[in-house]
Amino acid sequence: MTSRGPILPGRTVGILGGGQLGRMFAIAARRMGYRVHALDPSQDGPAGQVADVEVVAPYEDVDAARRFAEGVDVVTFEFENVPSETLAAVAELRPVHPSPAVLDTCRHRLREKRFLAKGGFPVAGFAEIRTEDDLRDALVRLGTPAILKTAEFGYDGKGQVRIDAPEAAGRAFEALSGKLGVLEAFVPFACELSVVVARSREGDIVPFEVAENRHARHILDVSLAPAGVPAAARARATEVASDIAKAIDLVGVLGVEMFYLPNGDIVVNELAPRPHNSGHYTFDACVTSQFEQQLRAVCGLPLGEPTLLRPAAMANLLGDLWAHGEPQWDRAAAFPDVKIHLYGKTEARPGRKMGHLVAMAETAEKAAERVLAARSALVSGRSGADPGP
Ligand code: AMP
Repeated sequence: MTSRGPILPGRTVGILGGGQLGRMFAIAARRMGYRVHALDPSQDGPAGQVADVEVVAPYEDVDAARRFAEGVDVVTFEFENVPSETLAAVAELRPVHPSPAVLDTCRHRLREKRFLAKGGFPVAGFAEIRTEDDLRDALVRLGTPAILKTAEFGYDGKGQVRIDAPEAAGRAFEALSGKLGVLEAFVPFACELSVVVARSREGDIVPFEVAENRHARHILDVSLAPAGVPAAARARATEVASDIAKAIDLVGVLGVEMFYLPNGDIVVNELAPRPHNSGHYTFDACVTSQFEQQLRAVCGLPLGEPTLLRPAAMANLLGDLWAHGEPQWDRAAAFPDVKIHLYGKTEARPGRKMGHLVAMAETAEKAAERVLAARSALVSGRSGADPGP
């Protein structure tokens, strides 16, 4: 379903998914006077706590999704794995942005890689893996080390194994447990970058600053903006992300994860057709946040100014910080330049994203020092406490 004029403040936006991305989207939307309905399988979720209405139903419940759609003017999502049938039912009733076709490409590593390769975008060598023989052949072609990933439902390094020698193929294949796999050549990157880019219904493209991402245990730990790479590399990364947004016919926001190689080249790792963890700093540090940009794009409003006000850094707060009890929030609050974001999740599990910290400073590295110091303060003085991932 398509709509004509813009969906203006006062109207209702629906979000499929109730996590932190939905929460921050809802905050941005409510600030601009929109009403927000969130569909979430669990009650009192991060988005539901902020939304006007939380519809609690499993994503597979097509009837509930239809009722949800009838209550809103436009639908977007924050979660990639909404079943296609649910999305199709919603799309019959209301405009859905980004389109279900975009979601379909981005949530399946093989489809995504094929789309990128076909469009001439730089990607690591890859191969489809259905059988152990496929894997052995692909290891000969792509070499080792290589990374075997499940084609679907993988995030934060889940569903991934590194293969260091061809002899390890058997065990790695078993780890797929019969799921469709993708083997990727290992990329010896110097650092990881990401660009969040927005595209409007009219086709205007507005990228945010390039972020540099540092991971711990495969989970994003710290993002710095601007990335500490040469200006030419930032320009190239921005161009690649903008071209992908156009090629995929995006309406909304897209996070493009990339590897930056020692020779200055850029290789695209993966796409997320929604705000991205590495863009959380935009909420505090940019004229327009990635969440407001998503809102503007899906409602058919002109996109906002993305300018970074000052160099910034973000550090994730994972559930591990709760291992010895509630973190000492007063200690982090004692850093007057650090913004505390918590997602309202009641259960802290290791590796679960519970919140993040943001700081701005003269340089992104100095901002990173501030968020890391504030994060350490959350658990300082506790015996055996681990300050972070
Ligand atoms: P992904 O789930 O694809 O985002 O991968 C999680 C992390 O694993 C990435 O952020 C990289 O640090 C690492 N990784 C994934 N794919 C590759 C690759 N082809 N070469 C080197 N490192 C990779």
